[in-house]
Amino acid sequence: MNLYDYNTVKRILSHHGFTFSKALGQNFLIDPDVCPQMAQSLNADDKTGVIEVGPGIGVLTKELCKTAGKVVALELDKRLFPILDETLAGFDNLEVVNADVMKVDLKSLIDEKFAGFNSIKVCANLPYYITSPVIMTLLESNLAIDEIVVMVQKEAGERLCAEVGTRLAGAVTVTVNYYADSEILFEVGKDSFMPSPKVDSVVIKLTLHKERKFEVRDEKRFFTTVKCAFSQRRKTALNSISNTMGVSKDKVSTAFDTLGLDTNIRAEKLKMEDFIKISELI
Ligand code: SAM
Repeated sequence: MNLYDYNTVKRILSHHGFTFSKALGQNFLIDPDVCPQMAQSLNADDKTGVIEVGPGIGVLTKELCKTAGKVVALELDKRLFPILDETLAGFDNLEVVNADVMKVDLKSLIDEKFAGFNSIKVCANLPYYITSPVIMTLLESNLAIDEIVVMVQKEAGERLCAEVGTRLAGAVTVTVNYYADSEILFEVGKDSFMPSPKVDSVVIKLTLHKERKFEVRDEKRFFTTVKCAFSQRRKTALNSISNTMGVSKDKVSTAFDTLGLDTNIRAEKLKMEDFIKISELI
């Protein structure tokens, strides 16, 4: 069954009376090159467990099942289950779980489903409405995963993979940098999907650091400082932090002076070390 063929996909969907849900970000891949490339870039083998978020009708899932030891696909939309039974019949290393990725306990899921695997990776064509929350959860939850290869909206991908201290950087960029090395692997045009979304996409790879790369005394305060610094992008970092973090302008200003930072600097120009030191001084 060729899941990249527009007419085949149309026939399967109509046979099951399936209609796309915009709210669930259902844009299915029909480009034959994208899924094999995504699966390949994971470097999975039979000792690798893969979590897929949102299998849809199973195009990417199929490729992952060919290379990984086990695939657990989390799908929120129950209507897709009978379709997946048909499209992925024959793969005995696959488990499709009806779950909301934002609510499921990923730690327990990994313990339960992937005991004995050498490496756990996440691969997905992410539903766009939860791109950042999913990635932040994967990074911040201290899970036993070592790599994330996901397709996201182009603009989101550029921000996630930007260098800290450059124009495109935001709070998510700092979080990604804190936990992982990031790279944009390749672009995917609107026409690669059914139905076509309004924007282009990119596939990004996040390789999680095995050990902490930055020394931060109080992570909670560090991330609060970062979020507050970026929360009023048109204002200076100093004003944004003092306005939203409940710390006096004098105190933040003194910290900036101590660190030799221009008090007019914007958050996007601050480096990782700057955020770390500011969070320690205020
Ligand atoms: N992997 C398929 C592909 O590439 O063609 C489908 C990708 S589609 C962009 C996103 C998928 O995520 C849909 O199948 C959708 O139903 C599912 N989804 C949406 N929200 C979800 C959630 N909160 N938890 C799990 N799956 C979700």
